Amino acid sequence: MIIVMKAGATVKDVGAVLKHVEDLGCKPHLSKGEETTIIGVIGDERKLDAANFVTLHGVERVIPIMKPFKLASRDFKHKDTIVKVDDVTIGPDTFTVMAGPCAVESMEQTLETARKVKKAGAHILRGGAFKPRSSPYSFQGLGKQGLEILAAAKKETGLPIVTEVMSVEDVPLVAEYADILQVGARNMQNFNLLDAVGRQPRPVLLKRGMMSTIEELLLSAEYILSRGNSGVILCERGVRTFEKYTRNTLDISLVPVVKKMSHLPVIIDPSHASGVREYVPALARAAAAVGADGLMLEGLTPHEFEKLMESIRPIATTVGREVVA
Ligand code: PEP
Ligand code: MN
Repeated sequence: MIIVMKAGATVKDVGAVLKHVEDLGCKPHLSKGEETTIIGVIGDERKLDAANFVTLHGVERVIPIMKPFKLASRDFKHKDTIVKVDDVTIGPDTFTVMAGPCAVESMEQTLETARKVKKAGAHILRGGAFKPRSSPYSFQGLGKQGLEILAAAKKETGLPIVTEVMSVEDVPLVAEYADILQVGARNMQNFNLLDAVGRQPRPVLLKRGMMSTIEELLLSAEYILSRGNSGVILCERGVRTFEKYTRNTLDISLVPVVKKMSHLPVIIDPSHASGVREYVPALARAAAAVGADGLMLEGLTPHEFEKLMESIRPIATTVGREVVA
């Protein structure tokens, strides 16, 4: 719930409300505006009864947040969240492109890709060192060695790294190398993993599960936020439908829905959404037009990627975003 303090509420009034919230075992989030002070309250829903607060001195009104997610909701935080890694931002004023190989396979392959995507204007390097595979016989990734290769690519190009972490035990290791920790579609509801990435300081790229609703995605983000990590980026990567000509169906409507419901940045991954290289550029342009905050891309040739970056720039500019080269 949200407690709105009266314009004339004193520091003592605010302090008393904060104390009362804590005494109930709940967590207050203080937000001081020019004129009014607002206190967001998170905690056990059974204790969050408006009657507990309306009678306190200096309280103007108590507004329940009806949505099941709270910290992720726009009711709770009106202003768009901007996630920053090194000098790259992911948020409302920029269009940020994360590109690179699906999996880190070797030093040469990764360095070469990193150089090329950087030259074409990518902002962040992606690449899996730990790979979630449907088949246990597929290449599972280079693990720690893959992380070291990504670190070498960062050292040379200056591109920050986003890479997937699949298990709770690997969180400290991946957080040592990665600038952004990726939680993959298959792990979107691995609550222990969400808890672990929520308790470390690196931003988290949370991919939508292939069979998950937008509400479930936002609830998973809520896990991370509620553990103290405010750097969450959402990623739509296609959901499973009856369609067979694409691997997944890109749910482009997620972008305006999330923008309405939440303050968190959202990017689109058209590579995993379509599974067909030929369709990736068109979907990437749609992502820019629909108001996404960026892209995650893999599987294009360097030439295709360059062309795509060129065609994205004017679209991003039209919707009021800068694509810093
Ligand atoms: C990936 O980004 O390499 C990946 C495996 O994506 P997803 O979790 O969306 O399938
Ligand atoms: Mn992939």
